[in-house]
Order: sequence, then structure tokens, then C-alpha cells
Amino acid sequence: MLLYILLCLEIAVRIAIEVRERRLTQLHGGVFAVLRLIPLVNDIVPLPENSCDPPTSLFVEKHEEGHNALHHAVLRNLMKVAFLLVAVWFLAAMVVRWNASFFEAVLWLHLVAIPFKYFFNWYCWTQEYEADAYAFKEVGQQKAKAAMHELAECEIPYSKLFASIYREHPTVALRSQRILKKVVGSRQ
Ligand SMILES: [Zn+2]
Repeated sequence: MLLYILLCLEIAVRIAIEVRERRLTQLHGGVFAVLRLIPLVNDIVPLPENSCDPPTSLFVEKHEEGHNALHHAVLRNLMKVAFLLVAVWFLAAMVVRWNASFFEAVLWLHLVAIPFKYFFNWYCWTQEYEADAYAFKEVGQQKAKAAMHELAECEIPYSKLFASIYREHPTVALRSQRILKKVVGSRQ
């Protein structure tokens, strides 16, 4: 019973987040917005981040170099493996110890994983900021600013709250705020 109450609560919270997002951005969420409301389905719905491919600037190259130099991919993957192991243990414990059906165990896992996903996004964001700081040091303020404009032009805008729940990348507004100490938008 508790499981289904929590799932209804999840749907209600996600509807509220979605409505808030539509109001703030004035953009339609499309079919993905509906899919994001459905438990389990929302675990696999992709979130489009860009409307076009941003050009590869020196800043972007140095940003990627920063990820490599700081071993970000390895750390991210280690964290994923750790989460996966805990998830398998959790499923096994639910089924064997608490006699839950497999389907119910998966639903519980889905709920329990929500704060972990949030934490994972936060961790990815800190990596992105670190890679930005690395690139900023390499190319300087002028090029960083120009690159932020280019990135902003291709980015689909999301609010900070929405991005923190659904995105592994911070928005360009947050990134430019962090390195340039001001929000950079598209030039239009
Ligand atoms: Zn990155």
C-alpha cells in the first residue's frame, strides 16, 4: 500500500515540476514531458539538451581535455558500478528477505534510486564545473565567454530546479555564472 501511495506522490510532484517548467520556459515539453511523469518509464526517457550542435571551440576542446586530465569518466563509471551493485543487492534483499514480488521490488528500487540519481547529477555537475575551470585557465576569459554564447544559442533552456533533477549537465547559465561571474545567454 505504502508503495503505491509513494508512487502517486511521485507522479504529483513530477506534474508540479513539469507545470512549473512550462510556465518558466514557455516551451512545450512534447511527448517526453508526459513520459517523464510515468514511474519506471521516466528512468529511461532521454532529455534533449541541445536544439543544434554547438560548434567545437577551443574552450570546448580544453573542457574535454580537463575531463580527461581529471579522470572524470573513470570516477563516473566507478560510481555507476557502485550504484549498480547496491541496486542488485537491494532487489535480491527485497525478493528473498521481504518476499516482495519482483515487480514490486523494481518499483521500490525506482523510488529509492531517486535521491541517488539527484546526488549523481550533482556529482556530474561538479565535474563539469571542474572541467570548465580547467578550460577557463587554458583559454582565458574572452574565449570562454564567446564559447558560452555559442553553447547558449544551441541549448534548450531548463530551469535550475528542473536541470538538477533531470540533467547530468548544468545549464549554460549556471556554468557561465560559475566561471565568468555572470549569466551569458544567446546573442539573439
Ligand atoms: Zn563536460
